[in-house]
Amino acid sequence: MTSTQGTAGSERERKVLDSVPTGLLIGGEWRPATSGATTKVEDPATGEVLAEVADAGPEDGMAALAAAHEAQAGFAAMAPRERGEILRRAYEAMMANVDDLALVMTLEMGKPLAESKGEVAYAAEFFRWFSEEAVRIDGGYATAPNGQSRFLVMKQPVGPCVFITPWNFPLAMGTRKIGPAIAAGCTVVIKPAHQTPLSMLALGQILLDAGLPAGVLNIINATDAGGVMEPIIRDGRARKLSFTGSTGVGKTLLRQASEKVLRTSMELGGNASFIVFDDADLEKAVAGAMVAKMRNMGEACTAANRFYVHRSISGAFAEKLAEKMGALVVGRGTEDGVQVGPLVDAKGRDKVVDLVGDALAHGATVKVGGAPVDGPGYFYTPTVLTDVPKESRLNHEEIFGPVAPISVFDTEAEALAAANATEFGLVNYVFTESLDRALRVAEKLESGMIGLNTGLVSNPAAPFGGVKESGLGREGGSVGIDEFLETKYVAIGIAI
Ligand code: ADP
Repeated sequence: MTSTQGTAGSERERKVLDSVPTGLLIGGEWRPATSGATTKVEDPATGEVLAEVADAGPEDGMAALAAAHEAQAGFAAMAPRERGEILRRAYEAMMANVDDLALVMTLEMGKPLAESKGEVAYAAEFFRWFSEEAVRIDGGYATAPNGQSRFLVMKQPVGPCVFITPWNFPLAMGTRKIGPAIAAGCTVVIKPAHQTPLSMLALGQILLDAGLPAGVLNIINATDAGGVMEPIIRDGRARKLSFTGSTGVGKTLLRQASEKVLRTSMELGGNASFIVFDDADLEKAVAGAMVAKMRNMGEACTAANRFYVHRSISGAFAEKLAEKMGALVVGRGTEDGVQVGPLVDAKGRDKVVDLVGDALAHGATVKVGGAPVDGPGYFYTPTVLTDVPKESRLNHEEIFGPVAPISVFDTEAEALAAANATEFGLVNYVFTESLDRALRVAEKLESGMIGLNTGLVSNPAAPFGGVKESGLGREGGSVGIDEFLETKYVAIGIAI
């Protein structure tokens, strides 16, 4: 591992940060919190303060909800083509500003600039995809089986939506909800994570500049997430709640949403297995492992959390993976050549320290890494552990860090049982050159997604989501817009 921790505050960084709005976006206007409260945004690579942004209280939350509610009827009546064109213009603007948006993201979240640029493009693609979906909302007309009546089926916007998003993909987790909502004709109140509000605030200005009417998108940053969001969810004017974050918070929100029976979409935690069979292409598997494990420093719900490798190739796999992990350059994401940034905060870093400590106490072996990096920032060394016993916490909890725990298996049945032995079901990765085995295993794995000979499943044109306690609903793909549409059926009496 090479470390290149740098210092914050170049002139360009300052200039770009100064261009980002710092208020709450309510009813088309940027405003301070009613209480005047602000909160600081920190650079996880240095601990330095990047910006101070408005910190909403419950009264601001209710003002945002009122603005979304008021704008709903007018926005639903806007021509689908016009809604699509707003998204298209926002897509173009994001791509034109990719360097600045990526810099803001790297500064507040830590990931290397190249990864931030990748996320800006990925995030923007949701707008392009849903700009195309806006004009394809359809319905149906049918004859009743007895021929005595007709059915007219229409799709209508679900109504005002509440979105709560995490810090790990500060733009994409927003656009994959905002894109389909705008395409469907729904207004929005969104609360980004308090660690990374700047990317969302910059996006808000892009959407206003793209012609989004006042009140359609309202952004409230709030450190008291529960205190501000619960009254909005329980109010009843919002008709849909979409959340991306931890399973624990998701369950709390589902309980709150039950009061007014809101439509809900939940993208919750994962515990992905990464299974390498003895008939896998080893080079492909190692390359896939690097992506599935190290994208976003391992801070992704899709991150490979548990590696199960066939006994006959486990030594070679661990050797090659450790070699690649050990060669990664760790440092501040703005520096040239850096491949691994800091974890988002002290809590995130300390959790990784605890999980690795627990695995070692249970008898695991460090192949490479195994420790946090000294100095400012929340860095953790890319790590490979072998001989990780089943009962280690690593096998049951999301690591959210650059640690690859490897266990061996002997039979396909054993690998499948281990992979499915979790309450989560977001994604699993499978490496095999056998078509029969690939299909057999894909059918039996309990997850909403499977990466087959690839370490990357996320794509705006595909349905992303989990089963079991990983969530409800799908984001992206042709089904992504359905989450924002209600089906209404008109029974028509007809004299034949
Ligand atoms: P993480 O542990 O990765 O930060 P969380 O599930 O805690 O994941 O956070 C995801 C999002 O949920 C963030 O925007 C956070 O502010 C928000 N959040 C956390 N707790 C609550 C809550 N009780 N009510 C509403 N939002 C919450």
